[in-house]
Amino acid sequence: DVPVIAVDGPSGSGKGTVSRLLAEQLGWHLLDSGALYRLTALAAQRRGMALDDEAMLSTLASKLDVRFASEAQGASVLLEGDDVSLAIRNEDCGIAASKVAILPSVRAALLDRQRDFRVTPGLVADGRDMGTVVFPDASLKIFLTASLEERGARRLRQLKDQGVGANLPSLLRDLAERDARDARRAVSPLKPADDALTVDSSGLDVRGVLDRILTFARE
Ligand code: C5P
Repeated sequence: DVPVIAVDGPSGSGKGTVSRLLAEQLGWHLLDSGALYRLTALAAQRRGMALDDEAMLSTLASKLDVRFASEAQGASVLLEGDDVSLAIRNEDCGIAASKVAILPSVRAALLDRQRDFRVTPGLVADGRDMGTVVFPDASLKIFLTASLEERGARRLRQLKDQGVGANLPSLLRDLAERDARDARRAVSPLKPADDALTVDSSGLDVRGVLDRILTFARE
């Protein structure tokens, strides 16, 4: 079986960066499952669909025309042939994604698409339910956390690096709102798998987190 490392946790815990570097270091594939929810939300908004229309949204999710391309300039995400790499990164899209992610049939529609990323030599899967639902047989399950304050400060730095203006109080509100929705939903709520190892990244830099996970991976 192709090995999977599941990296789950709340928004802004550093999962994205850590998972990407981990995949690079191991030479494995990367699944950014949040991007699929963000793309579903964006495609819905472009069509003027309501974000709670479960029937329409699950059909949309199952037919989503997406391509993850990696080029010399970095990774890009194409939705219906359109480069939406930046558009899916903003906070509004994250909030919209967390609304469509509540819907059980949307989650079901994205299941096979996520599992298709499991290709030799291995997969690092970044999300909320990688270890609990999508890859319950993952060889290593990490639950990455950090304090809300730390996560907010990180998001702020990330957005500034991208030249996007933001302020801390509204970022903290958005993160808390998104976490609450992710944790409270009936299907696949955000929670560590029983066999997950929790890593608190507060006060650690990316290298520190990566080293800790690589140590677990070698054990
Ligand atoms: O990780 P990211 O911030 O890109 O995820 C956006 C939203 O998509 C999350 O707030 C969550 O509601 C949803 N999501 C999910 N399950 C995943 C990944 C993301 O419900 N595996």
